[in-house]
Amino acid sequence: MHPLVDVHAHLYPPNFAGTDLPAALDRARAVGVRGIVTVPETVEECEEVLLLAESGSYPEIWPCAGLHPVQKEIVSGSAPRNDVSGQPNQIEDVATTRERAARLSDVPPALEFIHKHKEKLIAVGEVGLDFTPHVIHPGFTASQVRELKKDSAKKEAVEARELEVKEEQKEVFRQLVRCAMDADLPVNCHSRSAGKYTIDILRELNVPPYRAILHAFDGSVPNALAAVSLGYFLSVPPSVVRSPQKQTLVTAIPLTNLLLETDSPALAAVAGAQNEPSQIIISLEEVVKRKGVAKEEVEALMLENSRKVFRDLDIKWLARTKSE
Ligand SMILES: [Zn+2]
Repeated sequence: MHPLVDVHAHLYPPNFAGTDLPAALDRARAVGVRGIVTVPETVEECEEVLLLAESGSYPEIWPCAGLHPVQKEIVSGSAPRNDVSGQPNQIEDVATTRERAARLSDVPPALEFIHKHKEKLIAVGEVGLDFTPHVIHPGFTASQVRELKKDSAKKEAVEARELEVKEEQKEVFRQLVRCAMDADLPVNCHSRSAGKYTIDILRELNVPPYRAILHAFDGSVPNALAAVSLGYFLSVPPSVVRSPQKQTLVTAIPLTNLLLETDSPALAAVAGAQNEPSQIIISLEEVVKRKGVAKEEVEALMLENSRKVFRDLDIKWLARTKSE
């Protein structure tokens, strides 16, 4: 049996806290997982992941550092609530956490962290683009945004705001990709409703073949094949078993460009269930089934692909867990 690598997971507190973390690692080890490429979403999480990886207790945790395109913000007390054009229009009297797009002002500490710790990192991630309406327009649902766009008095302001947020996200992503290339690290990319734009930026910045992973890609087959033609990888999460779109991608993408991931604790085989790295065997089995290739052969190919993305896989990363 070849060692398995989960190329994208969020294996740190509070997703996995207390005894949950060692227990999840035990179960992962039992199915042959030797490494978990662990992708933080904020600078605080970058610090947390690096601490876990360096603690000596969790050799399977292979740390990344990045800045997720979706950040959380707390709207508390009587903070003014912005309308969709970015102008304050009412007072909110409840404290809530909501999602917003990453901003340029979030970037400098992330770049500094990556630069400072590049020797200890396996990749830059999670980075990317997320163009879902509630991220572009915090506090609004997709249907509210649709309604606002039908209102001719508001349409222009809504669309101008949308363009502004998307352009800022793209610039955030560019800065992180450039930083990854400077650090000679691959990029672990998120793309939601933005597959084409994510690939366009990787191409624009001349990210070389093998140096980008598109995780849980939600785009079309032609866009996925554009990534393949650039030599990038697409990683398959366990949710593939309930996603016709992802099944179509697995069928269309050559095995030479696939990798396995879990995105734990998200994207479990059962919607809403807690995912963990041991569930990578569900991704593996689905690839085996769709490709009609022996399991042993798929495992060997996934390892070979991992070696291409993570150049020092054997000498640096798998060596951490060799003695076990
Ligand atoms: Zn993720």
